[in-house]
Amino acid sequence: MTDNKLAGGCMCGAVRYETTGEALDVIHCHCASCRKHNGAPVVTLAGFADANVTFSGDDRKLYESSPGVGRAFCGKCGTPLTWEGNADDAEIGYLFEFHISTFDTPDVLVPTMHSFYPERIAWFDIADDLPRYEEFSGASPILRHGPDTST
Ligand SMILES: [Zn+2]
Ligand SMILES: [Zn+2]
Repeated sequence: MTDNKLAGGCMCGAVRYETTGEALDVIHCHCASCRKHNGAPVVTLAGFADANVTFSGDDRKLYESSPGVGRAFCGKCGTPLTWEGNADDAEIGYLFEFHISTFDTPDVLVPTMHSFYPERIAWFDIADDLPRYEEFSGASPILRHGPDTST
């Protein structure tokens, strides 16, 4: 474990957080739920286990988007902050996937894959060579590397 510390928070500064250690994953998520929560065409997330996350300031508000899945946001300014819930991996426990642009220094968190690629907005893709998965990387096949140029 490094003592790598990152900090972030919402737009108004009421909710702040700190993470330690390396991110468990950094992913572009194209699923409709993430897009809806953020109002964005794609959402980029960096995952950290509960043990490596500290919140300060106002308590974040939670919207339960499906059973066991929380979508956190600031109650003052509305900034979407996390996807969170119990990870499939018991060693991780409770998992926070932070929306990358809420970090103060998002440049250091570099994405390595695309999740829920088939759910993306049809006109949206990125000219990178990263693997595109049908759903989450652990539970679904790689569909392709690089953008879909067939349409
Ligand atoms: Zn706020
Ligand atoms: Zn998603």
